Amino acid sequence: MAAELGTDVRYIKGIGEQRAKALGKLEIRTLRDLISYFPRAYEDRSVLREIRDLRDGEAACVSAMVAAPPTLSRIRKGLDLVKLRAVDATGVLDITYFNQSYLKDNLLPGETYLFYGKAEGAGGRKKMVNPVAEKEGAGLLCGRIVPIYALTAGVSQGLLIKSIVQGLAACRDLLPDPLPDEVRQAHDLCHIGYAYDHIHFPESEETLSIARRRLVFEELFLLTLGLGKLRSRRSQAAAQPCGADIGDFYDTLPFALTGAQRRAIGEILEDMKAPRPMNRLVQGDVGSGKTMVAAAALLTAARSGLQAALMAPTSILAEQHYKGLGPLLESLGVRCALLTGATPAKTRRSILEQLRDGSIQVVIGTHALISEDVVYRDLGLVVTDEQHRFGVDQRSALSEKGRVGETQPHLLVMSATPIPRTLALIIYGDLDVSVIDQLPPGRQHISTSAVDGSYRPRIYEFLRKEIQAGRQAYIICPMVDQEEGAGDERKAVTEYAVQLQEEVFPQWKVAFVHGKMKPKEKEAVMAAFSAGESQILVSTTVVEVGVDVPNASVIVIENAERFGLSQLHQLRGRVGRGSHKSYCILISDNENEETRERLRVMTRTGDGFQIAEEDLRLRGPGDFFGRRQHGLPAMKMADLSCDMALLKEAQTAARRLLAEDPELAEPRHRLTRKRMAELFDEAAGALN
Ligand code: ADP
Ligand code: MG
Repeated sequence: MAAELGTDVRYIKGIGEQRAKALGKLEIRTLRDLISYFPRAYEDRSVLREIRDLRDGEAACVSAMVAAPPTLSRIRKGLDLVKLRAVDATGVLDITYFNQSYLKDNLLPGETYLFYGKAEGAGGRKKMVNPVAEKEGAGLLCGRIVPIYALTAGVSQGLLIKSIVQGLAACRDLLPDPLPDEVRQAHDLCHIGYAYDHIHFPESEETLSIARRRLVFEELFLLTLGLGKLRSRRSQAAAQPCGADIGDFYDTLPFALTGAQRRAIGEILEDMKAPRPMNRLVQGDVGSGKTMVAAAALLTAARSGLQAALMAPTSILAEQHYKGLGPLLESLGVRCALLTGATPAKTRRSILEQLRDGSIQVVIGTHALISEDVVYRDLGLVVTDEQHRFGVDQRSALSEKGRVGETQPHLLVMSATPIPRTLALIIYGDLDVSVIDQLPPGRQHISTSAVDGSYRPRIYEFLRKEIQAGRQAYIICPMVDQEEGAGDERKAVTEYAVQLQEEVFPQWKVAFVHGKMKPKEKEAVMAAFSAGESQILVSTTVVEVGVDVPNASVIVIENAERFGLSQLHQLRGRVGRGSHKSYCILISDNENEETRERLRVMTRTGDGFQIAEEDLRLRGPGDFFGRRQHGLPAMKMADLSCDMALLKEAQTAARRLLAEDPELAEPRHRLTRKRMAELFDEAAGALN
């Protein structure tokens, strides 16, 4: 059988049913997957020394002959030692292996091997423990820069290295190059085959960086192209200019807007005056007051005789927006409605009717706003809140609703997750950005601590004190992996709530809410908590976004290690919304140093932007929002904390190409178009 990129990995010698299954856990199924499984790190094993020149404490390779048959001794149950002596012309190397008894028969006396390890000792007598050993001349594991792959049970470094060598030999020449020749040459990028060879098995630091540069460029280039195409529908369009006096809006508010809010509103209203669609992102930390900024835009559109829609990712959040904005806008003479999946059929029909005839001016809702049967008379402004939870395509779906001929609605995107500048450049590439970098006055610093489970009794004691003082508390339960079964989330939350109610807080009301409840039930629980009828709310992350109960002063997060930093920051933002001193307690029994460091970041800073940068640095962009949520291809290569210059270069190249051939219809761009479509399809698939 001839190999193709789509050939099953079992084609590789040494990979059978079992190993194929293990590789499947790393998403390696075909030869293409295999050779696209890039190393997560490298180890430089290229330094070769003679035994006498090995330096104490330095890791290096040495070429030495096994002088006598290795001996095996069993020290105790579970502890085997293989000892052997190897020599070269300059000295003697004593080698010990722990628990690798098979090496006794694999390392043959009289044969020469390359050993790589950390040397100890002085002069012509050295020692190594557990060195990597390889027959001289094999050239895979020693005497070079060696790739280090992320592993899973049943898949070793050795297996991956050997398989990838075979995979590359079989199909590196079949790789279609998605970079057009002219782009590759203009940016001084290597051929794709060379890149794949050297990303796995670099000859030197230099060839590694040549390979890496090309692959990063390719990734960013295709991403920019794909986004560019998604947006091109919008960019050419015209929009209906909006402008109205909203002085009474400012007078109606019970507070003065912050300078940052005023600035953002100014930028938005300026955009909306233009006959081109606004494309603006408002970024502001939790509690920075984005809703009022949106209100000013909604009001302006309505007063300009157009309809406006505000779309939120969850019904809880949509309802809350409606509660906050509905009365305010109505008092200013604007007719509002709420439309979610939970809206009863009859009400829904009536709302749809009034959206069609234009009597409803502002509609607030969830995905229900983009259902097929929703028709607007004249949608002039679309606002999406907590944007990163929508796929790019959902955002444009709502925009499409407002398309009349060549006219499109103005678009305002509000993000509560502060996004690092680098990532914003990619995801929102050509959006204008307003940053609300100021919180309303009187906001409390939220005192945050990270502790282990042994603190629970003390935490409960603390909760008692707070509740006695009239406050309320959230307890966030571990998220449950999708694989573990959908029922478990409900179980975890319910059981924990019952236990707390019966054993810990019998005198108070412990309520619970989770994603598996009906919207009506959720709403009832949230409303009761909001009204102070329950004191403790046990919840999954459904309270993550936007929920506003100013009396709540403590949030306890169980299994905090399972959350991303930005998510923890969002959760933390549920408290400190009133005038009460507030607390966030992160519980984790995880001892992994990286995890501890992440949680420490939370205790050190309350600045969402700084947290987002840390999150990006620690988790990488692919995981930053979770692939499901942003609907963009995962980035394997690009490290956005340091690939900024290359990002700009790739973006420029992609835009130039689109300007030249917007549909990528020319034959020489066929492979580019194909690869881009594949990447975006995969990502779109992950959305469902
Ligand atoms: P977010 O940016 O997280 O969406 P919100 O718009 O929900 O923030 O605002 C958080 C809280 O702050 C709300 O209760 C809102 O009424 C209040 N708020 C907004 N702007 C101001 C302001 N300028 N002064 C005082 N309170 C404000
Ligand atoms: Mg909000």
